[in-house]
Formats: sequence, C-alpha cells, structure tokens
Amino acid sequence: MLLRCIVLFCGVFLLNACGKNEVVENKRFHFFVNTENPETKDAVQFLVDRYNGELGSPVLDIVEDQAAANSKIGFTSNLKLNADHKLGVGQWITISSRTSRYSLEGRETTTEIQYGMDISFDKDNFEAKQARVKDAESSEADHLYHLFCHEVGHGMQLNHKEDDPNDVMYPFIPEASKHQVEYDLYFTQIRTFLGTR
Ligand SMILES: [Zn+2]
Repeated sequence: MLLRCIVLFCGVFLLNACGKNEVVENKRFHFFVNTENPETKDAVQFLVDRYNGELGSPVLDIVEDQAAANSKIGFTSNLKLNADHKLGVGQWITISSRTSRYSLEGRETTTEIQYGMDISFDKDNFEAKQARVKDAESSEADHLYHLFCHEVGHGMQLNHKEDDPNDVMYPFIPEASKHQVEYDLYFTQIRTFLGTR
C-alpha cells in the first residue's frame, strides 16, 4: 500500500540527513507597487525595464494583484527625516517550504526557496524626480536609477560597500553624482547571486 504524506511548513529548518532531497530556488521578483499615483507607477515600470535590460535577464516584474506578488515597493512620507537621511530602504526576504512524499522507495523531499524583497522609497524625493526618470541626461534619472539599483541590491542580499564611493552599494547616494557609478561590477555581483554568470 502506498502511503503518502505531505508536510508543508514555512521557516528555517535543516535538511533531512537521509532520503532524497531536491532544492528548488526561485529568484524571480514579482513586485506589488503600493501607490495609487499613475506617474509613480510609470516611473517604477521604467526603472524595472531599465534594470532588466542592463542585467540582460527579466528577473523583475510588476504585478497588479498583490496576492501574486512576492516582493513589494512602497513609498514612505518623511523616510528621509525618520530614517537617518535615508532615501530608500531595501530588505531581502526568503521563504522556505518543504514538501515530503513518502513511498515504498523512501522519502522524497522537495525544498522550495522563494526569494523576495521589500523596498521603500522616500515619497517626496521619489515624486520630486519621477517626471524626469526617462531623461537619460538628467541628474534625476541618474539618482533614481542609482537609488533603485542600490535598494534592489539589498533585496538580492548585497551589503554596503563603505570604502568605494563609486560602488552602487556605497551607503550614500548623492542627488547629483560626481562619481562614475560602477554598474558593471554591480551587475556582475547580481548575476553571481542569481546564478546566471
Ligand atoms: Zn543601503
């Protein structure tokens, strides 16, 4: 008689020491953009498309249905004032689930790791610059793209680089950059995280 038992739970756990284990990682990020402002939504879509284009892989997308999202972009009033002059914050999220199937051959376990992120931008700063996000020559476009890449970098588990002002993950993002931002290095690190190098 075939006995099947499915166990599903979330959280941190250790893999079984015996049986057959398979690990499935999902590193596609489906954002719910938490704003009613159509210009803000349009600007975020532009940043997502630019990011995917420069990465060379469509790892970010935007979904209208919050239930279909594994990631979030929000806008916080006075983030700059309340969060030590930060214009954005980004945090990575992982959710693990394990499914075990018992059969005559033994236990087969599938571990699925779902990667997501939670980003928030300072609302006033973002809205003040969003109208020029598509103007590649503008300092507003430079700033918003740099800020977006930085927070998405945190969402893909990159930490701050304190010692190199040109690094995307340098903790201070100027409104008008004097530095040549090292996007090539950044996207190499992102591809390493994604396993697409
Ligand atoms: Zn940061």
